[in-house]
Amino acid sequence: MVLAQLGGSISRAIQQMSNATIIDEKVLNECLNEITRALLQSDVQFKLVRDMQTNIKKIVNLDDLAAGHNKRKIIQQAIFNELCKMLDPGKPSFTPKKGKTSVVMFVGLQGSGKTTTCTKYAYYHQKKGWKPALVCADTFRAGAFDQLKQNATKAKIPFYGSYMESDPVKIAVEGVERFKKENCDLIIVDTSGRHKQEAALLKKCAKFLKQRYILKPDLAIFVMDSSIGQAAFDQAQAFKQSVAVGAVIVTKMDGHAKGGGALSAVAATKSPVIFIGTGEHMDEFEVFDVKPFVSRLLGMGDWSGFMDKIHEVVPMDQQPELLQKLSEGNFTLRIMYEQFQNILKMGPIGQVFSMLPGFSAELMPKGREKESQAKIKRYMTMMDSMTNEELDSSNPKLMNESRIMRIARGSGRQVREVMEMLEEYKRLAKIWSKMKGLKIPKKGEMSALSRNMNA
Ligand code: GDP
Repeated sequence: MVLAQLGGSISRAIQQMSNATIIDEKVLNECLNEITRALLQSDVQFKLVRDMQTNIKKIVNLDDLAAGHNKRKIIQQAIFNELCKMLDPGKPSFTPKKGKTSVVMFVGLQGSGKTTTCTKYAYYHQKKGWKPALVCADTFRAGAFDQLKQNATKAKIPFYGSYMESDPVKIAVEGVERFKKENCDLIIVDTSGRHKQEAALLKKCAKFLKQRYILKPDLAIFVMDSSIGQAAFDQAQAFKQSVAVGAVIVTKMDGHAKGGGALSAVAATKSPVIFIGTGEHMDEFEVFDVKPFVSRLLGMGDWSGFMDKIHEVVPMDQQPELLQKLSEGNFTLRIMYEQFQNILKMGPIGQVFSMLPGFSAELMPKGREKESQAKIKRYMTMMDSMTNEELDSSNPKLMNESRIMRIARGSGRQVREVMEMLEEYKRLAKIWSKMKGLKIPKKGEMSALSRNMNA
């Protein structure tokens, strides 16, 4: 089950529970069984799922809850918290400091996306003003150095490696020494991975890693392909035994992978997921935060990520006005139009949209950004045929039959398409209306909105 489906199944289970007239033991059990099934289908390890179920039952003691208590909210909150707990080992990973040299080593099986992720990690930090450098100590895979070199050159990041030298430890030590002298503050070492899931090879790999560990990196990041499913727990544990894994990066979250393995890897390594890879390109890389992620998974939207994105992509002079409009809760067609304009300007639009509740699954399915972009342009053409009154009204009743027909004629589209666009607008307006009266958070803050939405 892909993650979006997992989220959908869990939210449906919660919704069904919420629809019940009385919430009793039976309704709660049905809801938890549904969630359990969804998590198991997503390859989350059985023990984790069982523990989660037990914990929720312990927290939500229906007999002890007085009649006045909002049981739905309490159950929802418990589910949300338990999912967060599953993904949060409770201790933060080592965080490199800008201006102070840190050595970060990447480990993981061949094909997991390690080399790609090394560059993404370097590029991410470079954009934030760091001075990163890449060292290719993967002497096992033919072409690894070329791949790193190519990526590094594209991103203008200094790199070090050798076609001749076969000892990875030697290359790593030389590379690190060189970049320390050059005052790089983030030295990233790519190590070699091995073939998939073969115990003997994994053992060998562990030995290599131990050897390599004489490097004493400040942080070892375990890169895991999200599509490996149930094998994730064992694989992560094997790496943890051979090297002090301090953080996890889960790759290929854009594909049709069952993401549950990723949740299990956190439990196996007791290390936090710090980033996720969402595509092959350099900037398809997202900081991973547990709470916004679970919010998004449950279709509640990632408000803090969304706010950060707004600060990043909406022109400075438009930000206060947009945020003001949002907090007033009046989502007019004109606001939708302006946001579509911003979105078309800002490149990989999926990234922004996927953070909004309600947007990701329907308007912007991942991997179909081109079609979505065409759809948005179509919607905008129709809105171009609207009057100012129509664009500025938040009264859905205004859009009567004759207006709809006029818009269709004026934009050369079908009535059905105009109605589809208006339905989309209504759906978004409903979601956005939840923001009414809420405090708009400042850049980077874990927002009050998020807490409110999650409650
Ligand atoms: P390595 O052997 O672990 O170093 O793996 P590579 O970095 O060579 O990656 C293996 C393949 O996975 C390449 O084709 C990458 O483009 C692809 N890849 C890596 N990360 C992602 C990701 O987040 N999403 C997708 N779709 N592909 C990825």
